[in-house]
Amino acid sequence: MATQRVLDFLATRRPAGPCLVVDLDVVGDNFRAFEKALPDSKIYYAVKANPAPEILRLLASMGSSFDCASVAEIEMAMDAGASADRISFGNTIKKERDVARAFELGIRLFAVDCVEEVEKIARVAQGARVFCRVLTDGEGAEWPLSRKFGCVPAMAVDVLRHARKLGLDAHGVSFHVGSQQCDLTAWDRALGDAKQVFATLAEEGIVLKMVNMGGGFPTRYLRDVPVAQAYGQAIFGALRKHFGNQIPETIIEPGRGMVGNAGVIKSEVVLISKKSDNDNVRWVFLDIGKFGGLAETMDEAIRYPIVTQRDQDEKAPCVLAGPTCDSADVMYEKTPYPLPLSLTIGDEVLIEGTGAYTTTYASVAFNGFEPLRSYVI
Ligand SMILES: *Cc1c(COP(=O)(O)O)cnc(C)c1O
Repeated sequence: MATQRVLDFLATRRPAGPCLVVDLDVVGDNFRAFEKALPDSKIYYAVKANPAPEILRLLASMGSSFDCASVAEIEMAMDAGASADRISFGNTIKKERDVARAFELGIRLFAVDCVEEVEKIARVAQGARVFCRVLTDGEGAEWPLSRKFGCVPAMAVDVLRHARKLGLDAHGVSFHVGSQQCDLTAWDRALGDAKQVFATLAEEGIVLKMVNMGGGFPTRYLRDVPVAQAYGQAIFGALRKHFGNQIPETIIEPGRGMVGNAGVIKSEVVLISKKSDNDNVRWVFLDIGKFGGLAETMDEAIRYPIVTQRDQDEKAPCVLAGPTCDSADVMYEKTPYPLPLSLTIGDEVLIEGTGAYTTTYASVAFNGFEPLRSYVI
């Protein structure tokens, strides 16, 4: 839902093109809710979800740590006030010279998921701590992360053993249960796998210390999602179940759950048309689409709530598309989106829950459209 602050900003400033408005108060509330839900876990905000400097500064001032995927993100987190010991290089795919640069900047915590990556880190970041990412099935996630990251638990054992042999600190295990994960039991399955890695290595005298439980915490789109507290309880229960009273240090890396509901995109209806006289599904074209920041509508995975000023009127299904000359720039067609029959060219619409994965997904100038503007208030 758009907060009053956001609505007031849009009403008084009246920015012309499509834009994202982020309410920092909501980000602050989300941070506190995570702290309260998982008081023993350290929070590493996943910078990629929304790297706006105002957001990073707020979170740094509240004591957050940061999960970064590149040297540029590391520098952004440091510019926002985070010291190197509050930053992890969480991408499993890094150039060796970027590892070296991060190490120079003071970063000591690195993600890996294979021995090849361990070898890069051992060459240029001696003594660093590494954690190995294990695959998850992504079951229950609306934006699953597939098999690109992580390895099977048995291989994680080899990877961490290799890290130790090369002089690195074999620090722990990580996983990501898939983004927009609404199944509270997903962490239980992954923590079972993590425990297996801990137990196998303990038998060889390698004592792991940390489990990085990743992101996956949802934003409310069209359906209700469990609150942070419910995630906290489920996760704590799973930690107890698998680790008994030897619960390791834990990290969470919320991205979407930290900023998704803090942002609203204001857009404008550019065209409403039909493909034939007896077509009963209208095509509604907005001034924002897949290339302007709504990339997560790919495969219609994320369905954003769309608010118009005519929502009390009768609604009928529409195909919703963006303004560019690419036929892939259609957001919702397989499952058309109900919009008011009275909707008119020039109307403003609000696309809610768009604080995460929008500004950074916007193209630079496809068809001459500028990247998504953002205002953080
Ligand atoms: C993207 C990412 C996150 C954030 O995921 P959300 O589902 O947005 O919370 C956390 N950790 C890692 C390693 C990631 O790549």
